[in-house]
Amino acid sequence: MLNLPRLHAPIESELKAAFDAALSSGRFINGPFVTRFESELAAHVGVAHAVGVSSGTDALLATMMALRVKPGDRVITTPYTFFATAGCISRLGATPVFVDIDPESFNIDVARLEEAVTDDTVGIVPVHLFGRCADMTEVNAIAARHDLWVLEDAAQAIGATHAGASAGTMGIAGTFSFFPAKNLGAFGDGGAVVTDDDDLADRIRALRGHGAKVKYYHDLVGGNFRLDALQAALLSVKLPHLAAWEEGRRRVAKKYGEALGEFPGIVLPSVKKGDDHVFNQYVVRCDARDDLKTALETAGIGCAIYYPVPLHLQPCFADLGYNVGDFPQAERAAMETLAIPVDPTMEKNDQLLIINLIKKALK
Ligand SMILES: *Cc1c(COP(=O)(O)O)cnc(C)c1O
Repeated sequence: MLNLPRLHAPIESELKAAFDAALSSGRFINGPFVTRFESELAAHVGVAHAVGVSSGTDALLATMMALRVKPGDRVITTPYTFFATAGCISRLGATPVFVDIDPESFNIDVARLEEAVTDDTVGIVPVHLFGRCADMTEVNAIAARHDLWVLEDAAQAIGATHAGASAGTMGIAGTFSFFPAKNLGAFGDGGAVVTDDDDLADRIRALRGHGAKVKYYHDLVGGNFRLDALQAALLSVKLPHLAAWEEGRRRVAKKYGEALGEFPGIVLPSVKKGDDHVFNQYVVRCDARDDLKTALETAGIGCAIYYPVPLHLQPCFADLGYNVGDFPQAERAAMETLAIPVDPTMEKNDQLLIINLIKKALK
């Protein structure tokens, strides 16, 4: 679905130079490559602090640890997301509380959010799924009424905006993933937390190194959540190209829109006017989803289901007591959606081929 060698080819010499610099520095943990990437990322996003961590998952975990999420707390999120969002809530002994999604955006349905708030609710984790921001205006209004924190899971949405604000800057903190298939991918795992809150940034920095601000003196119980210096050095090379890759994704998305927008049997992702969608995934909805998937796979075209089982129906969350039918929109999305290639370096002819295959399959 994403041709990484082709994406990296034009910057190969820069990447190799960054590798050589990291190699000859001998500094592989913390150090100047990490701090440099952190300041570049903070400037790019427009926040006071970016804290590099080991993955998007650990970004969520460390931030919720810094927010002092504890057993008995309830944290509201969406059942239609990657597992990590709810997994981290659960790992801290808190209870993930799911709210169904809005069928058009695939993001948390803000019309149903407030009824999920109880006395034990401490925060909300909206997810900007596939690169489209959740309705943060409403999420923040509800959070303010009930004195809750908002942590944006922006793993798929670096560069996306809502009402002029960047993903990751609209709550107390935002988290990014540098998993290779994300819009800003590392060469392995990586992630970051961005925030304007000095105190929170300070605690996350301590938590990523076992809670010690001074080595071997532990103020908090943390973990090993560090971003590798080598990953940071390589990410510094890629970050200046991110905007062009976003443009490439939008160009591919626009083309799908022109070719398939009016085609019967398929619903294309919608873009909210005024917001920037960064299309980490291009997810279509289709009654005959499984047939479409088979047709594409048979032709050797990559496609994937994000996500086949909503989180409220995962076996590991059985004790939360949810049932089939509790979140009909999330359940329907799991049955009807398919991600098709939105590679920023995709060639015109290749996309035409995909479009024609889809038309043929839907007929
Ligand atoms: C990718 C992703 C994560 C986890 O990121 P990793 O870097 O893979 O740990 C969390 N939430 C969402 C929505 C994601 O897409």
